[in-house]
Amino acid sequence: MASVSDLRERLRRPLLVELRSGCRDTTVVGGLEKLIATVGKPFGDVKALISGYSELEPAERANRVEGALALLVEEPKAGPTAHARPAASRLDAATLEQAIDRPLLDLGAQAAKKLSAVGIRTYRDLLFHMPRRYEDRRALPHFGTLEDDTQVTVAGLVIGRKASRSRRGIALLRAFLEDSRGDRLSAVWFNQPWLEKQLFPGQRMIVTGKVKRRGRQVELAVQHMEIDDDSESLSTGRIVAIYPSTQGLSQAYLRRSAHRLLTALDTLPDHLPRTVLARQGLTSLDRALRDIHFPASETALQAATRRLKFDEFLFLELRVLLNRDADVVGKRIPVDQAELSEFENSLPFSFTAAQRRVLAEILEDMAGGRQMARLLQGDVGSGKTAVAAAAVFAAARRGYQAALMAPTEILARQHYLNLRDYLYPLGISCELLLGSMTSGERGTAKARIGSGEAALAVGTHALIQDGLHFSRLGLAVIDEEHRFGVEQRRKLLQDAPHVLVMSATPIPRSLALTYYGDLDLSIIDELPPGRKPVTTRLFNAAKRSEVYHQVTDEIRKGRQAFLVTPLVEDSEALEEIVSTTRMFEDLKQRLPADCRIAMLHGRMSGAEKDEVMERFRRHEFDLLVATTVIEVGVDIPNATLMVIENAERFGLAQLHQLRGRVGRGEHASSCILVAGDRSRNTQKRLEAIVRSNDGFVIAEKDLELRGPGELRGTRQSGLPDLILGDLVGDGDLIEESRALAKQMLEADPHLGASWARRLKEELQRRTRAVGFRQVI
Ligand code: ADP
Ligand code: MG
Repeated sequence: MASVSDLRERLRRPLLVELRSGCRDTTVVGGLEKLIATVGKPFGDVKALISGYSELEPAERANRVEGALALLVEEPKAGPTAHARPAASRLDAATLEQAIDRPLLDLGAQAAKKLSAVGIRTYRDLLFHMPRRYEDRRALPHFGTLEDDTQVTVAGLVIGRKASRSRRGIALLRAFLEDSRGDRLSAVWFNQPWLEKQLFPGQRMIVTGKVKRRGRQVELAVQHMEIDDDSESLSTGRIVAIYPSTQGLSQAYLRRSAHRLLTALDTLPDHLPRTVLARQGLTSLDRALRDIHFPASETALQAATRRLKFDEFLFLELRVLLNRDADVVGKRIPVDQAELSEFENSLPFSFTAAQRRVLAEILEDMAGGRQMARLLQGDVGSGKTAVAAAAVFAAARRGYQAALMAPTEILARQHYLNLRDYLYPLGISCELLLGSMTSGERGTAKARIGSGEAALAVGTHALIQDGLHFSRLGLAVIDEEHRFGVEQRRKLLQDAPHVLVMSATPIPRSLALTYYGDLDLSIIDELPPGRKPVTTRLFNAAKRSEVYHQVTDEIRKGRQAFLVTPLVEDSEALEEIVSTTRMFEDLKQRLPADCRIAMLHGRMSGAEKDEVMERFRRHEFDLLVATTVIEVGVDIPNATLMVIENAERFGLAQLHQLRGRVGRGEHASSCILVAGDRSRNTQKRLEAIVRSNDGFVIAEKDLELRGPGELRGTRQSGLPDLILGDLVGDGDLIEESRALAKQMLEADPHLGASWARRLKEELQRRTRAVGFRQVI
């Protein structure tokens, strides 16, 4: 007697064929219903679905067959396979208008769970589930034309399969595919025996992998496969979207779901008025969403991408502008010019023109009635700290306290020592507060800050932790803002002090405004005179031993050196340690025995890192092998050589930042970039660093050198609003959307007019979605 799973198979295959042949009920002699009557006994629910089949419209037949196939999936644990009924399969336009923000209907629990794992809960989520990339499958090659050792995507019909084991015991699974010319190919999977259950003769498959030709035999080592059993042919013969997905949620399923939804959807209303679209040269939202999922051409895809990116930036800019205009009343801290001269006169140098300009901007803010929120941006060593000290001084003279928050203890300590040098002679007392201090020390510091005796408190996030009260906080300076969470920043802002954020990250002006959103911008674009620029040289990995000679030389002169290894991938913390550790061990072998080498990486605790750094500063080590954890950092005037291994793996701005770790003392300093490959592109990028010492020039160059990538660049904004948009690559769109946002708000500051109704709704929705407080 046939087992249930045999019966299941005997049902499934004809159903698949029926679906593919357009549901004309010609697959089985006597009709599908007859077949089910004979072999469908164990599957009551399938029987119910198919009942009355011959009387149904083809579209409804397709629904039923898909439903039946979904019920017949052997292992429900595998989640929605290509056969499961797609999300949105039971929709019509009328219900969708109201249902778009409701949870998806008609899904099995497994499908719902999988979809929600990639962020899809409602129809709108599905609509806005943006493809990660695209594959051009308009003309897939015939098997006969495949060249050995190339990476290809092909489609074919499964005509057989075979499971076996290699001599070494590796499970091999082969599917024999036939293309439309009758040529054959064998697709091979290693160690994925469970796939056997998903492959059936008669299925159409799309496979991507590496070609191995053995005489007339063609083999393909499969990297990616899709089972293509949809009647709409969504997965071949076109530019195909590849979505962010998860185990068990197939691409074909996602495509089909999106397709169903778009088919059911009437023209989607646009939140931008038609006149605006025309003026900006933007495609409609409806067109854009259809084309982003199923582009008819590259041009259509480009237009769709542009429109959707434009929206992302527009809503981001609107949010930023609306937030900014929500003025917070600030403390008035007027500055007396005579007093300011007193500060300048106490300095061992005079301010550069750039320092003067930004200081004037800061002091003007502090004197006004609105809370300052300003970003002070300047290259390493451009004199930001000195400017901040002047602002602290100005506040202190009016009886206000200031706080400076740094991302690490060692940086906090360094700031404390610097600021104390500036301020103590002028009678301004400073206090240091660190988490690692004893509770006694902390208590004393807190008391002096609380009573107002200390005019400046310097510390880490310990400053915003429990139990610290300022008596009259007027100014908060935050160093390297990106290391602090938004929440931490807000906490320090409870008293609405003026806020100055210092950053050495050179972001071009147009981007800084968007990236830092609600902050005004002051830029120090000039270095103090007499700086010895760091000489930068480019070496090939083959010349590494020469590099080590230089390191030894420098150490022999009594100087210190850094050697930085790249972090392979953000997530690959282990590799990071391995490469740092390997380099560390290697250097111990290669450098003279009396060179004292230490190691620093991201997996060490904050205290461990601080200790290594502190000992390096005291010259207990000659060479520090480190990852980019030293990027933001401590001044070590005796460190004069920076070696960066695999320099091509770093962004230009980051290389510049790393280079800024040396050249901080009286000695001439240099930086050696070791290129791990010889490609033209690497050469070109790294030469930009060799040629320029100006962070802004380098940041612009970085922008320019980034190619368009494949069909879309990688995302890297760090802003939750941006899914398609890229802060670095989309400068023009940012400018355009900002200009439009400004115009709109000038015309209608609260977006209350009727033309703005949809726009405002969309803004509120997106603002909620990214977890920002409501702006209007
Ligand atoms: P940043 O915080 O931007 O890295 P700092 O304020 O720490 O820069 O300044 C770096 C060094 O340059 C310090 O030693 C500081 O005393 C010195 N410096 C700052 N401004 C000037 C100036 N106008 N002329 C000369 N030296 C300066
Ligand atoms: Mg500094």
